[in-house]
Amino acid sequence: MDKMFLIKYSEIGVKGKNRYIFEDMLVKNIKSALRGGVSGRYQVRKAQGRIYVTVDEECAEETVGALTKVFGIAGIAEVTQIEPCSFEELKPQVIKYIDETFEDKDFTFKVNTRRVDKAFPMTSVEVNELMGEALLDAFEGLSVDVHEPDVMLMIEIRPYDINIYSKIIPGLGGMPVGSAGKAMLLLSGGIDSPVAGYMVAKRGVSIDAIYFHAPPYTSERAKQKVVDLAKIVSRYSGPIRLHVVNFTDIQMAIYEKCPHEELTIIMRRYMMKIAEHFALESGALGLVTGESIGQVASQTMQSMLVTGEPCTIPVYRPLCAFDKLDIVAISEKIDAYETSILPYEDCCTIFVAKHPVTKPRLDKIHRSERLLEGTIEELYQKAIDSVEIININ
Ligand code: ATP
Ligand code: MG
Repeated sequence: MDKMFLIKYSEIGVKGKNRYIFEDMLVKNIKSALRGGVSGRYQVRKAQGRIYVTVDEECAEETVGALTKVFGIAGIAEVTQIEPCSFEELKPQVIKYIDETFEDKDFTFKVNTRRVDKAFPMTSVEVNELMGEALLDAFEGLSVDVHEPDVMLMIEIRPYDINIYSKIIPGLGGMPVGSAGKAMLLLSGGIDSPVAGYMVAKRGVSIDAIYFHAPPYTSERAKQKVVDLAKIVSRYSGPIRLHVVNFTDIQMAIYEKCPHEELTIIMRRYMMKIAEHFALESGALGLVTGESIGQVASQTMQSMLVTGEPCTIPVYRPLCAFDKLDIVAISEKIDAYETSILPYEDCCTIFVAKHPVTKPRLDKIHRSERLLEGTIEELYQKAIDSVEIININ
């Protein structure tokens, strides 16, 4: 095995005991990403506060592909690791590194040494200066630029090894999934909710999901599309338990008994209640939706006040302040967009009123919901009892 990557992660806010939890979770998630994404051998190693991934040369690209989907990684550096040695022994190895790493020796550089091993007899500033000179002597096309170098050459002198690297591939950032509890994502077939799931997973939250379908008004294909979107989110979030709830009878009852302009709001309230039921059952600490302030009638602040009211656990709306274009950009980045725009029917659009309320009042909605008493309780229970659970991943 001959390619080694140094995993850089943000250490801000992860000190003391939390740091170990964070690192262990990250190692676990890196292993499972490599298990799914790398065909050859690999090794993940934690050493003195650093995480290293070693793989077969031919799997380097796959490895980077897998690692750039793991939250908690700030950057991935391909590193050359050598035995501890004196400066005189280090010099030719750094020259060799530059020789092999860069085809064109025509760039500006800066040497950036970190001396972790305080027993090393030179200061980092001295190493910077002397190594810089050695490289200028060795390669004619090189020059120093300490402000905006093309190449930042990192030399980390550590007690048990010396790391040399110069290229850092950006990671996704965020926190390792699993380090922050679990949430229940209301996942529809649209653009927004998969992005919402991605955003909270980025903060370390693991995800369960719930989809409300309305057969025969919504098709098998619409359901399959949601399964496909859950798979896309799970590339980042890890396994998802997708709850599929049959919402047809509840929707019909609301349609028959309540004012049509309130249909979407009342439906959304029942979705929230059912989602909360399964959230509590599976230990999720909150709900997540793809709502964004003002995007449609059911997403005005007045509407969200009313649709969130039945919930006793927090409702997270990570996209509330995002413009649609920003949401689309993330959707494209995570490869969900093409799936999201497939034109299958959505259970909410089928019965939708021409002029839905945009400023619903809670007391009025409560009054309308009273019209459902006597019918809805049984339908609600039936919807919950007939849940289908699909394990994604
Ligand atoms: P999306 O693009 O996520 O479908 P949207 O812009 O179409 O969102 P709405 O249809 O109003 O907006 O839905 C708002 C939010 O309610 C969704 O982001 C999702 O979290 C939830 N939601 C809507 N319909 C469903 C459904 N059938 N199953 C599960 N959740 C749903
Ligand atoms: Mg939708």
